[in-house]
Amino acid sequence: MPAFDPETTLSALLHEYSSRAQAIRHDLARSHSADFAEQAQQRQNDEVLDALLAEAETAMHQVGLAKLRLSEGTYGQCPQCGEAISPARLEIMPAAELCLACSTLAEGH
Ligand SMILES: [Zn+2]
Repeated sequence: MPAFDPETTLSALLHEYSSRAQAIRHDLARSHSADFAEQAQQRQNDEVLDALLAEAETAMHQVGLAKLRLSEGTYGQCPQCGEAISPARLEIMPAAELCLACSTLAEGH
């Protein structure tokens, strides 16, 4: 058994993010109170939920791309510099596209 199985890990991640997104959509769709003060509170909550939903959807998208790279055989290889991404990094961030050096550059640190 390999210590790290990207296929299983990515599928589990995708499942996790999609059920999270579903739960958030469910929360967002709930009926709103008629009370004005509560409405204001709910709007604030909705903004937080919207942000969380966007985050979950971005994560799903990234995992989807990682699965695509896996099926194309380019998973774990940095498209920027062509170097292999370290297994330790992939274990922490299975959907990472860039190696640590390139991602640090991309973030402008
Ligand atoms: Zn790189």
